[in-house]
Amino acid sequence: MSEVSDADRQADLQAGLQAVWRRITVACERAERESSQISLIVVTKTFPASDVRLLTGLGVREVGENKVQEAQAKADEGAFDGIRLHLIGQVQTNKAAAAARLADVVHSLDRPKLARALAAGRERAGTAPLPVLVQISLDGDPARGGVPREALADLVDCILQQPALRLAGVMGVPPRGAEPYAAFTDLARLAAQVREQAPEASMLSAGMSSDLEAAVRAGATHLRVGSAILGSRPSLR
Ligand SMILES: *Cc1c(COP(=O)(O)O)cnc(C)c1O
Repeated sequence: MSEVSDADRQADLQAGLQAVWRRITVACERAERESSQISLIVVTKTFPASDVRLLTGLGVREVGENKVQEAQAKADEGAFDGIRLHLIGQVQTNKAAAAARLADVVHSLDRPKLARALAAGRERAGTAPLPVLVQISLDGDPARGGVPREALADLVDCILQQPALRLAGVMGVPPRGAEPYAAFTDLARLAAQVREQAPEASMLSAGMSSDLEAAVRAGATHLRVGSAILGSRPSLR
C-alpha cells in the first residue's frame, strides 16, 4: 500500500467532517432543532495520533477514545493538546486512576465501584471535578457495559456523593438489532429521570455513524462519530 500524504489524509478527513455535519444539519432541520445544540465528538480509536493532529488542524476540539491505554499513548505523543478528550469505552477499575488523570469527560460510568475509583484518582490528581456520564444499558446485557435501569438511581446517588465527580448526563448505545429511534427515546426518558435527581445532568450522549439522525431526533446533545469521518477502522477491537 502506498503511503498517504498528510495533505491527502487531511482532505479525506475534511470531506468526512463536512459530510457528517451535512447529515447533522438535515437531521436538525427535520427535528426542528438548532445544529448549535449539537456537539460532534470525533471518535479516533484505532487511528494514529497523526490523525488527531490533522483533525485539530481542521478545527476539531472534541475527540473520543474507548481505551485508556491507547488514549494514554496518543496523549504521550501530544495528540490531545488543546482538545477535550472524551473516554467512551468500558473502564476497568484498575485503569480508573489513569482515566481520571487523562480524560476531560468519562461517558462510560456504569457502576458504583468505578465511580469511587474515578473519584479517588481525580482527588489524587488534584484537578477540577471530573465530568462523568452514566452509561445506561438499554437491554440489561452486562457484556456491553452500562448500568441496568433498575440500578440507575442508586448509581446516580453514589456519583452525587463524590465531590471529585460532576454528573454531566447520560450515554447509551442501542441494543443489537434494536430500532435506534425507539432505543434513543427510551434513553431520553431515562435521562429525564436522572435530571430529577441531578438537574445539571443535561448531556445526552447518543448516536454514532450509523444512527446519528435518530439520535438527533430523540434529543441527543453529543454525537460520537468515528468511521463516517475517519473511514473503516484498521482492525477490529
Ligand atoms: C467506536 C464507538 C463509537 C463510534 O462508532 P462509529 O460507528 O465508528 O461512528 C461511538 N461510541 C462508542 C461507545 C464507540 O465505542
